[in-house]
Amino acid sequence: PTVSPFLDPGPVTKVNSLAILQLSRDNLVPVYLEAPKGKHDGYAEGAVVNTRYGSFPHSTMINVPWGSQIRASKVDTGSRGRNKRKRDAADDAGKEAKDTPEESNTPLPSNGDAGADAEVQVKKAVADSSGFIHVLPPTPEVWTSSLPHRTQVVYTPDYSYVLHRIRARPGSTLIEAGAGSGSFSHASARAVYNGYPAREGDKKGKVYSFEFHEQRYHKMKQELIDHRLDDIVHLTHRDVYNGGFLTDDGKSPEAESVFLDLPAPWEALPHLSRRNPKDPNDKTWVSPLNPKKSAYLCTFSPCIEQVTKTVSAMRRLGWMDIDMVEIANRKYHTSRERVGLNLCFDRGVNNSARDVDEALARLTEIESRFREHAAKSRGEGESDDDEEMDDDDAIAATKTKGGKKGNKKGSTENGNSTIPDNEEGNVSGSGSGTAPWMEGRLITRGEPEIKTHTSYLVFAILPREWTEQDEAAAAARYPVVG
Ligand code: SAM
Repeated sequence: PTVSPFLDPGPVTKVNSLAILQLSRDNLVPVYLEAPKGKHDGYAEGAVVNTRYGSFPHSTMINVPWGSQIRASKVDTGSRGRNKRKRDAADDAGKEAKDTPEESNTPLPSNGDAGADAEVQVKKAVADSSGFIHVLPPTPEVWTSSLPHRTQVVYTPDYSYVLHRIRARPGSTLIEAGAGSGSFSHASARAVYNGYPAREGDKKGKVYSFEFHEQRYHKMKQELIDHRLDDIVHLTHRDVYNGGFLTDDGKSPEAESVFLDLPAPWEALPHLSRRNPKDPNDKTWVSPLNPKKSAYLCTFSPCIEQVTKTVSAMRRLGWMDIDMVEIANRKYHTSRERVGLNLCFDRGVNNSARDVDEALARLTEIESRFREHAAKSRGEGESDDDEEMDDDDAIAATKTKGGKKGNKKGSTENGNSTIPDNEEGNVSGSGSGTAPWMEGRLITRGEPEIKTHTSYLVFAILPREWTEQDEAAAAARYPVVG
């Protein structure tokens, strides 16, 4: 099977593949990129994504490196006017119109040579600098931020910690219930993925996911196929409180990791036992857990009453090392800010320029001072190498010139930012080779408060079973000497 774009998206965007369009920091839109096939319903360019930042024909987003910035295009709306009239007529007739204002991508049969026709039309799309977006590869993180919500979902700060604590790793077998909107399923699929083809003897890594809501089950089943994750995530339609966690044909998934995002985890826990909790001598009992390994479990519950009941059930069923964690996530936004002209001169040099001319004159002066300084620090004889001075040298020179070392506290709107004085790290900028300090001060703003309580995470471990046979085998393997 071809590898899921969530696991290996390749270097560039592809036709018919899922891409995540980032309109702004927190506004992400999943789109399947369509090849221009000729005239589409509404746009001569083919499929177009319309946003408040402009229009983006799919054709401008295909075969570009992931992460590319895409400029808005002027699109030929000739046929859109006609289609608008069609939509209006459909509305009048009380029918659902096909075309939506956000995305119009329903192809119409082409009249003529589809490829050539589309090419001509695409050329008509004149670049317009009114806006831009970024085209991102699908990852569990961006999917979580853009997925169609069918339920409450588990977010990245929680699931990254959970996956770490329940020891999900390449080759692991993980049980998850309920699947809900599939946010956790995507993250866990990547965590257990062990490559195609797996090395001989390696376990492939599987997620056994359960969902009892029929519609959600069907939606998620289709989504897993579309995302080519159905080989890793095995989804079952079931009420796990009654039906437990075996496969449909009664086999054990042999899981080592378990995640329960259910309203009443204590109702599901008895099914996760190594022996029948009602009759430990029941020889017909099949445990869904791997008999050779300890099981690592996490339950995810928003209320403390649920936690109490879960912990009580865990204790009775032999789970150990029980503890509870709440993830209090706080976002930091870091950017460079130029406030007028002044900040260009914030490096121990006079900070007040009266106008652009004066600012430029000072900038030139500062640059020449840096060059001089850098040359000196390399030794007088090498001063001819000035041309080769790089950003790091310039900044090193600035530091010495400015005389101040270490971090300097600054203030911003919410009064809790730190402005480091020596921010020579990697900073995204114009990419033109400008020293980062010239692009403004580095500002870090923390969200003033933790916004929401997500859930309480209860962790526990069920040790592996140790039988007489295991003991005998261990004794034979490691005989006591002496
Ligand atoms: N973890 C999911 C995600 O990240 O998208 C969200 C899970 S959602 C909060 C809880 C899901 O559990 C719902 O979809 C619900 O239908 C399902 N559910 C509730 N009780 C269940 C049961 N007894 N068996 C299986 N699924 C159940």
